[in-house]
Amino acid sequence: MATQTIRTTCSYCSVGCNFTATVEDGRVTSWKPAKDYPVNRGRSCPKGFNLLEPFAAEDRALYPMVRGDDGELHRVPWDEALDRFVSGFRAVLDTHGPESAAFLSTGQIPMEEMAFLGALGKFGMGMVHGDGNTRQCMATAAVAYKQAFGFDAPPFTYTDIEESDFLVFLGSNAMISHPVLWNRLKNNTRDRTVVVIDPRATKTARAADEHLRIQPKGDLSFLYAVTNEIIANRWVDEEFVAAHTSGFDELAAHVAGFTPEGVEAVTGLSADTIRQFARRFHEASAASFWWTMGVNQSHQGVRTAQAMINLCLITGNIGRPGTGPNSITGQANAMGSRLYSNTTSLYAGLDFLKDADRRYVADLMGIDADRVPQANSLPYHRILEGVDSGEIRALWIIATNPGHSWIDHNTLAKRFASLDFLVVQDLYHTTETAQCADLVLPAAGSGEKSGTFINSERRIGIVDRVLDPPGEARSDFDIFRAIADRWDATPLFPEWQTPEDVFRFLTRVSRGRPCDISGISGYDMLRARGGIQWPYPESGHDDAEQRRLFADGRFFTPDERARLLVTDIEPVPEATDDEYPMILITGRGSTVQFHTQTRTGKVPMLRKSYPATAYVEVNPQDAERLGIVDESRVRVRSRRGDVTVTARVGETMAPGQVFIPMHYPEANPLTYPAFDPYSFEPNYKWAAVRLDALD
Ligand code: SF4
Repeated sequence: MATQTIRTTCSYCSVGCNFTATVEDGRVTSWKPAKDYPVNRGRSCPKGFNLLEPFAAEDRALYPMVRGDDGELHRVPWDEALDRFVSGFRAVLDTHGPESAAFLSTGQIPMEEMAFLGALGKFGMGMVHGDGNTRQCMATAAVAYKQAFGFDAPPFTYTDIEESDFLVFLGSNAMISHPVLWNRLKNNTRDRTVVVIDPRATKTARAADEHLRIQPKGDLSFLYAVTNEIIANRWVDEEFVAAHTSGFDELAAHVAGFTPEGVEAVTGLSADTIRQFARRFHEASAASFWWTMGVNQSHQGVRTAQAMINLCLITGNIGRPGTGPNSITGQANAMGSRLYSNTTSLYAGLDFLKDADRRYVADLMGIDADRVPQANSLPYHRILEGVDSGEIRALWIIATNPGHSWIDHNTLAKRFASLDFLVVQDLYHTTETAQCADLVLPAAGSGEKSGTFINSERRIGIVDRVLDPPGEARSDFDIFRAIADRWDATPLFPEWQTPEDVFRFLTRVSRGRPCDISGISGYDMLRARGGIQWPYPESGHDDAEQRRLFADGRFFTPDERARLLVTDIEPVPEATDDEYPMILITGRGSTVQFHTQTRTGKVPMLRKSYPATAYVEVNPQDAERLGIVDESRVRVRSRRGDVTVTARVGETMAPGQVFIPMHYPEANPLTYPAFDPYSFEPNYKWAAVRLDALD
């Protein structure tokens, strides 16, 4: 009997836990969280424990499928599927030009696959547009860091959660969304205070020392009022501000208009509460912000994230243990997508608009620089608008399910039907998006292939194959290679025979960049070291297991100073009124649910732990006023659609606000399509709705 021990990284959330599998004769006989991995040290959440089970689901896409004249998907051989792919995209691109087709990618597949897709789609097939579903979760944090620090550089390492004495979780339900990271608070032996700022009394809020129940969209005003207090009381770290930042005078002038009394109404918090918060932030020896989608998915998300960044900068809470404006990433490889997918930027954060950057990448690949687009991709929502207008005629969607997850997706199926050609590459042929496809390409899951992920603390972790893909499913890497062959594009990537070949290219392209990983020799080094955080340059690297950025106060801007950035408060995107008087917030429902549940929904043990059908959380006062009782059926209506769900009456929501978990298809027919003006991330956290009792 052949027995192997294989280490791999969880492909759900961005915490990046590592597991040890024992594989005997092709079967996994043991699956345990790795005790010696610096991220999880033997811990896991239920999703990770059950990571492999969804790969055996009955609705796996086992072979390529083409939609026939009868409107159904039918099995075809790979050769025919690849011919169909090439003829479909060639017909559109040849007739309508390079801007008429696009790909929509993901934060779920390994970095090397993203990099291959970005090269194949843009340099090989000649597309200009390709974006990722990280637009739906992390674009705001990426843009906020890039504008403030000069690069998309989350500054922290996970031990900061153990070394902070004032931890502020803003718009983050970390206890259920990033459970293993949250658990590390137990290692924090300081006299610490955890404050959660959230409109909803989430599990995280209830577990915290203090919950500031802020009004939805009151966060930016709150942060400006706190900044004003810090400045007015002369609690600013003047030395750090003078040496390492720019824009302080503008910041001070801007926030002077935000007094604690003046923002009471919009925040729902008393002036005393705001003053006390500012004082405690100032008095902490190491204060930190931790944020997720409550900030990112907002119509002013970038400036809200930067208001936290400002506070950390002006108080010197950066670059030291336990500090930092820290964005916890969403998907397992969102950071890989942000840096190395060749979508919104060229590899390693280089710029499609700069001649020198295009030439640098082209020279390293040995291709003609004219193959590199001289324009940025349209962001996700503009690609979908392009489908509406007829400018985008073909789409290739990889490992994501916008048919469920996209904001206000009521017309999406109709939009997909209007395309000349829609290809979906996924583990399952049953997702809402795959059901619209002309061609389904069956892909392997993360346990069935190899590559690397980058987690929230910038750690590059190894993904190793523990199972063979079922049926005729192939790794995304192999699918991209097969398409490159069929497209006659293989000569562009002669060295890219394996994922590790691509990884080595990425280490080369990163040289000299803030995310320099040129010192990583290959996968064996990552395996031996328990992952490695970027940067890790070839010379002068720091070998510490946990590393944070900016200890020297030097940022990635041309003058090495961080930027303090502000904006005016914009009105909420959709006003409530007599007809739609309540505010709908969407978000994560439980630890055991992930995104559109294409995987977690297939695990019976996980399914037992949450309601099978969609529900809306409603405050008892609203329930009584509307004649709604717990567990009864209610209709939730917005100006875009209506759904029927079960009422859960309780104090989780404040009066006038309701919540539907994003995992159910009932959430996004209701949401309102507003976008942050810098990151173009959708605002999933505010829509005007009404509730009507049905029972
Ligand atoms: S916390 Fe995240 S990375 Fe860790 S096991 Fe759970 S889902 Fe996977």
